Amino acid sequence: MKRPTLKEVFELEPDGRSLVVKGWVRTKREAKAAVFLEINDGSRLANLQCVFEVPQAGSALAAALAKAGTGASVAIEGSLVASPASGQKVEVKAVGLEVIGEAPSESYPLQKKAHSLEFLREIAHLRPRTNTFGAVARVRNRMAYAIHQFFQERGFQYVHTPLITASDAEGAGAMFQVTTLDLERLAKSGQGVDYGKDFFGKPAFLTVSGQLNVETYCQALGRVYTFGPTFRAENSNTTRHLSEFWMIEPEVAFNELPDNMDLAEEFIKYLLKTALADCAEDLEFFDQRIQKGLVESLGSVLDKPFAHMTYTDAIAELAKSPEKFEFEPRWGSDLQSEHEKYLTEKVVGGPLIVTDYPKEFKSFYMKMNDDGKTVRAMDVLVPRFGEIIGGSEREERLDNLLRRIEELGLDTSTYSWYLDLRRFGTTPHSGFGLGFERLLLYVTGMANIRDVIPFPRAPKLADF
Ligand code: ATP
Ligand code: MN
Repeated sequence: MKRPTLKEVFELEPDGRSLVVKGWVRTKREAKAAVFLEINDGSRLANLQCVFEVPQAGSALAAALAKAGTGASVAIEGSLVASPASGQKVEVKAVGLEVIGEAPSESYPLQKKAHSLEFLREIAHLRPRTNTFGAVARVRNRMAYAIHQFFQERGFQYVHTPLITASDAEGAGAMFQVTTLDLERLAKSGQGVDYGKDFFGKPAFLTVSGQLNVETYCQALGRVYTFGPTFRAENSNTTRHLSEFWMIEPEVAFNELPDNMDLAEEFIKYLLKTALADCAEDLEFFDQRIQKGLVESLGSVLDKPFAHMTYTDAIAELAKSPEKFEFEPRWGSDLQSEHEKYLTEKVVGGPLIVTDYPKEFKSFYMKMNDDGKTVRAMDVLVPRFGEIIGGSEREERLDNLLRRIEELGLDTSTYSWYLDLRRFGTTPHSGFGLGFERLLLYVTGMANIRDVIPFPRAPKLADF
């Protein structure tokens, strides 16, 4: 038989079969009549209890047990029996122990006690061995898979968009430049920079969004999505921003803003439902240790439609608020995170879709409303941290789009290929971007975005 994961072992009947299990020791407890090793292999949250009879002093087993401290990797031989302990159906009546790799307790940083998330961030290479980060990794994996399931089940095609781009100023955020020029030598020589000599013959950047590229495939395949890394050099040291994060961007031909709002709602609900069903053990852990009431609050989202509100109405709601904000809400300024939190937590008590924002702080490609002042943008806001999705109906009229590009002083020539989509067979179309790590904050209840990606990248942070 192939060696089962511990998750698979938990599903077996306690029929006394003999087996070998492998994993890492979480705890060792020595009682009068027995020695208990709890091991974990990452396949699920729960540890498997392995019970040894107290070994004879000086025996090989006694020597192995002495080395099997927290963090050691082990192979344990025994038989699968019913467990008298509560909360677990099976345990291993162990007879053999091999310590594969020791983890000396005087130097191993992860001991049995609870460690702070700050401390664990400093040992990002070891933190997946903790309950919290193991659970985050499993939920992250399940959600990534669910994203593909959701779109594939609905006839969307997955499109790979480039990470290196020369379309500057998409308006989504500051960009990281990509160059092979020898900056040090250029600085010393005092000459100016000649991008003609750079790798691509012009300035190039890491993408802030796959949207413009995915629109080209939308205008041929109808329903498409991208799911990949994006990069923003914004110097915002917040618990909601990373410099490198993953984004899911669906784009649908012939969809108008209300269709886009419905798609976003159906998508979020599908992901929450999947998490509640398939990550129940991990979510229960987050509920107990990280965010009280998490499971109930996620479940309650499934039962009712998302609230809708225009930006103008949102500003009016904020003006009525008895709460004092750090930034005064004013028509014409973007909503701050404190405003978004207030609207979702205090006004609607759940997710909220805000639409029709002033054009000034939204991107050039968003469709202009008839009022000439607002655009068909939508942000999906959730309790605890605010924006989780940003999207819009796109401007499909060539003349309007050209006017916006000129108004904003952008260079028409870099967008000529994008404008062709409006010149030839243009259609109404809409899409949005879901920040994958924002979704994970929402689903796990974790408070800091640096704790829901394996290796966070942020200002002055690129270790590991
Ligand atoms: P915010 O106002 O929160 O900075 P944004 O308006 O810049 O967000 P968009 O440009 O609309 O965001 O990007 C789409 C989505 O990508 C956002 O709704 C959010 O979920 C996610 N996102 C944006 N910036 C970041 C970031 N720096 N780190 C992680 N996720 C991000
Ligand atoms: Mn931003």
